[in-house]
Amino acid sequence: MTTRPNRLLVIEDEPGLREIFQIVLETAGYDVEVVEDGQVGLEAIDKRQPDLVITDLLTPRMHGYEMIRRLRATAHGRRVPIIVVSGQTYSADQKRALELGAGTFLPKPFKRQQLLDIVKNTLDMVHVRFWGVRGSIAAPGPETIRYGGNTPCVTIERGQDLLILDAGTGLRQLGLCLHAEAKGAPQHLNMLITHTHWDHIQGFPFFVPAYLPGNKLDVYGPPSVEKPLEKVLRGQMDPAYFPVALGDMAADITVHEVREPQFQVGPFKVTAMYINHPGITMAFRIDLDGTIITYATDTEPYRFLLGNREQPDSELSEYGGQRDAELVNFARDADLYIADSQYSPEEYVDKRGWGHTCYVDAIDVALAAHARRLVLFSHDPMHVDEMIDEKLRRCREIVTQRGESLVVDAAIEGQAIDLVPPSLRVG
Ligand SMILES: [Zn+2]
Repeated sequence: MTTRPNRLLVIEDEPGLREIFQIVLETAGYDVEVVEDGQVGLEAIDKRQPDLVITDLLTPRMHGYEMIRRLRATAHGRRVPIIVVSGQTYSADQKRALELGAGTFLPKPFKRQQLLDIVKNTLDMVHVRFWGVRGSIAAPGPETIRYGGNTPCVTIERGQDLLILDAGTGLRQLGLCLHAEAKGAPQHLNMLITHTHWDHIQGFPFFVPAYLPGNKLDVYGPPSVEKPLEKVLRGQMDPAYFPVALGDMAADITVHEVREPQFQVGPFKVTAMYINHPGITMAFRIDLDGTIITYATDTEPYRFLLGNREQPDSELSEYGGQRDAELVNFARDADLYIADSQYSPEEYVDKRGWGHTCYVDAIDVALAAHARRLVLFSHDPMHVDEMIDEKLRRCREIVTQRGESLVVDAAIEGQAIDLVPPSLRVG
């Protein structure tokens, strides 16, 4: 992992404050550049690829809102965290800045320690970003535009640390973003693959960083039924399917078959578990210094596959229930549980045995596991935006009816969920 100091870019037009930012942040060990307007700031972000941007809202030539909006529209600007600093503390302004993609708002005037705390806390936040949220097959189009049409790809990010989950078609956009950020510098990237069904690997041949000499890519996934994992990835790039072979990708690529239940990937402690899906599929539980994310996409409750959802008391259901308890343990106390929730209960009746879960059962796991937050994931390709709205509404209603406080969201392509690490939690 890289150990360079974090690069900060500050956009501030008041000369006195510019000096304060420079001195305070440099003294704290950050690599700081301060510019005075949004236009220059945008150019400097493109050139320097900072780890954090601090911007005033009312800067000359281009105000903070426009700067954030433009930055978020670029490949390189999607991931960088932003702190907005402003004397304009109307809640409507704060709300607008946060909606545009600023992570935090620091009102002026502020104390030195306040600034240092907010910078450190923002850099320590864990961001879970969704690049592809759709199960089975990519389903782009006007009817899926809000939640997104790409197949699974998720990143867990903290400062300069990054872990990629799955290589569905969403991986292509992530690759473009990482390539733009690198500015030619070599990158070492790590990727976990849950299984090799098409929707979880089809982005791999389009992952730009894998084509660049000097880059290193470590891919971790389950051994498949008949062939080594590397052979499966190689097979999808056979000339019959794709014009470039895996061996022609110029990065140093190593494929690791996961044989141990626990392994370390940089700062990420990963636990793997087999789950119930046709073929060999893994769920991952990732521990990043106490922030826990469980990623269990593509799984079906054993008790409903072996038994029957409508008659849960059979002997087979009982055995299945014991196996399902393993998933509950795997998601235990997770800060974020990313769960297969492809079907409604009504749809599941006809889709039993297809290897996916209905959202009511995802809620049951999250509640039994005491997860803090549930993200509905692997949206069915037939589910248009309004159907996912309805799925989310029904899930929240169920949680309320049960008197629980579980936070439920539906994964949205291009958006991130920010998790406060235990070291920063109050109370
Ligand atoms: Zn699958």
